[in-house]
Order: sequence, then structure tokens, then C-alpha cells
Amino acid sequence: MTKFHYRCHTCGKEFERDEVRYLCPVCSPQPIPQVPLKGVLEAVFDYEDIRKKWDPVHPDTELFCCVEKEYYPRVIVGQTPFHKAERLGEKLGFDEIFIKNDGLSLSGSLKDRASFLVVAEANRLDLDQIITASTGNAACALAAVCAAEGKKAVIFVPHTAPVAKLTQLRLYGAELHIVKGTYDDAYRESLKYSLENSGLNRNTAYHPLTIEGKKTVSLEIFIQNGQKAPDVVFVPVGDGVIISGVYKGFYDLFKAGLIAKIPRLIGVQAEASSAIHHLYKSGQYNPSMQPDTKADSISVINPGNAWQAVDFIRKSDGDTVLVTDQEIMQAQKYLAENAGVYGEPAASASLAGLIKVKESGIISKKEQIVLLITGHGLKDIGATIDFLNQIEG
Ligand SMILES: *Cc1c(COP(=O)(O)O)cnc(C)c1O
Ligand SMILES: [Zn+2]
Repeated sequence: MTKFHYRCHTCGKEFERDEVRYLCPVCSPQPIPQVPLKGVLEAVFDYEDIRKKWDPVHPDTELFCCVEKEYYPRVIVGQTPFHKAERLGEKLGFDEIFIKNDGLSLSGSLKDRASFLVVAEANRLDLDQIITASTGNAACALAAVCAAEGKKAVIFVPHTAPVAKLTQLRLYGAELHIVKGTYDDAYRESLKYSLENSGLNRNTAYHPLTIEGKKTVSLEIFIQNGQKAPDVVFVPVGDGVIISGVYKGFYDLFKAGLIAKIPRLIGVQAEASSAIHHLYKSGQYNPSMQPDTKADSISVINPGNAWQAVDFIRKSDGDTVLVTDQEIMQAQKYLAENAGVYGEPAASASLAGLIKVKESGIISKKEQIVLLITGHGLKDIGATIDFLNQIEG
């Protein structure tokens, strides 16, 4: 932990740590904010202080953390494998494809990282109820960390969430509100519930520590990669919080003088759920009215963090790319067959994105590429079964 304050991504106004909790009150004055969110808060550290304290022999990435260690939940999240996918690289014609496998985190997705930090914050604030809307994984992550801490997780998920995710939620003992509607409906309902009840809301990007939690994936990659940044990272994008967290992690390292350059971030979206891609390419924001994709974790009408995600992708000198459901499911199989890694459909979009841009020349053969695998394939075997039945006839 290092001293920090918040800065509004939209207007730049600065706030002390405990002066604000969710969004910038100037940019999002309504109790139920407009989505995509305006006024998402960023943690700003004393980078000079971190640079002075940094010891490359005993690197301590907790210097970039927003909550004191004494409040950490007593459970381990993240700390997932990072390794070269040799065969995959050979087959696709790239020298250095690496996998960061967050499917192997506590509840099976990268969302654990955000839930861990928000629950740490709830410990600090002495709040024992935490509320979230989710397509499934954020809820599982929150429910798991809350179970370990003896806190109550109040969950709003769409009824269409895959059965494995709903089963995890029941098993962890969360208070489950199954919403007969979309993820966007669940998002609104959860905010309404938060206004009427006590507790902390963990909604993605709405709580600034979701981005700070997710950034730990970049800090880990940096350490596991010999304290170097890779050249390119492929990230599946729904609400645009994971990709913003990935950026923030490398940004912090850059500001502290520990890396020379922030990797290019390639955001991969499903064709049916592509609001961030279109905003990035055209500058025009339009919701994805029918985000009907098998990659349920990246299915969203109005992505919560569209503005910040697009800004960060641009600042990283990155790009966005669309993939079809068929390409996602083919990539899932290709990843499993050639790297032994089974990612859920949304997670496999990373590889689908790399395959899609392969011929475009935006990635060169010698670059170090990281595929961020954001969730475990066993979370949705239904999608895999359908695909295998289809190709095997
Ligand atoms: C949540 C999630 C994503 C997308 O993250 P956003 O922050 O919504 O962009 C991608 N893959 C998996 C497995 C997820 O659970
Ligand atoms: Zn603001």
C-alpha cells in the first residue's frame, strides 16, 4: 500500500481517498448513473515514493495496492500461471505466445481479483454486506471471497447465466436474485438495491477498486516475465473493466519508472456485443441492442466502462477487433488442443482475436504476445458440447 488519492477520469477533479466512494459526484450526480459510466475514478499514487522503495531483488507489487494488507481477505486469488505456449506459437507462426491463465484463480475467473480488493475495502470500512450485478463470474468471485470472510454477498444475475456459474453461487451461499432480463437489467436492479440497503456495491467500474483489483494481473505478468512488459496483450472485452485494469497495472509500472513502455492492448469483442469496438473505431457510441453471444461473460448492451476503455486502448497504441461466435468456439478448441488450456468462450476470444488479426500485419512474428485467458472452460460446458456436436456431426 502506498498513499493515493482518486482522480476523475472524465473531468480530472481530484478527491481524497474517503471523500468519495463510487463515481465522481460532478460527472455522475444521479443516484442511478447513466451507463456507460461518466466519472469513473482512478487511483493516483505517489509514483516517486514507489520508485524509491522499489527493490528489484525483492519486488513488492503491493506498493501499488489501495488497501492496507491487514484488511486482506484470508484467501488466495490470482497468482495464476504465466507460461509460453510453444506449440500454439509454432502453429500460428509467432515466436512468443504466452498465456496468462486466470481460469485457474479461486472461483475460476479473473473477477476474483476485483472481488478480493473490494472485500478488503469492505473490511476496512467495516461493512458486512456486498452487492453486485454480474453476468456470472463477478458474482461467483464475490460469493467465494465473501464466503471465506463470513460476509454476505448479494448477487443480481440474469436468468440466462450458465448453469455452472449459478451452481457455484448457490454452493458458496450467496443471496441470489435471478433477474428475468439482461445483465443490464441486473445492473440497474443491483444499484437500486444498494441505494435502499446498507453495504458496499461492487459493480464493475462503478466501484473504483474493481479496476485496481483487476490491474494485479498486469503486475503479476510483469514479475513472472522477469520484470519486463510484453509487447502486446489480447483481452476479451465486455464492460471494458478488465482491459482498463490491464492498462492501469502497466501504467502504474510505467509511471514508477519500472517499464519503458506500456504494451499495446488489443480488445476483442463478440460481433453481437460490440459497443466498445464501434466506439473505438467510429467515435460514435451505440448500445448493442441484441448482445446475443455464446460468450456470456462479454455480453452487454451498454458497457459500463466504455469511455475509459476506449481511452486506454488508444493510449496503449492498441486496437480492437471483432470475432464471431463460431470463431470464438473454434479458438476454444484450438487453445485446448494446442496448449492444453480450456478457457470459457469469453476467455477464448483472446485467441480468436489473435487469429483474426494474424494476417493484418499489426503484430509481428518476433513480438511477445500475451493471451489473457480470463475464465475456465468448465464454467460453461454447454457451449462446448453444442460446438463439438456441431463439428462432429
Ligand atoms: C468479465 C469477463 C470478461 C470481460 O471483462 P469486462 O471487464 O466486462 O470487459 C472477459 N472474460 C471473462 C471470462 C469474464 O468473466
Ligand atoms: Zn468528474
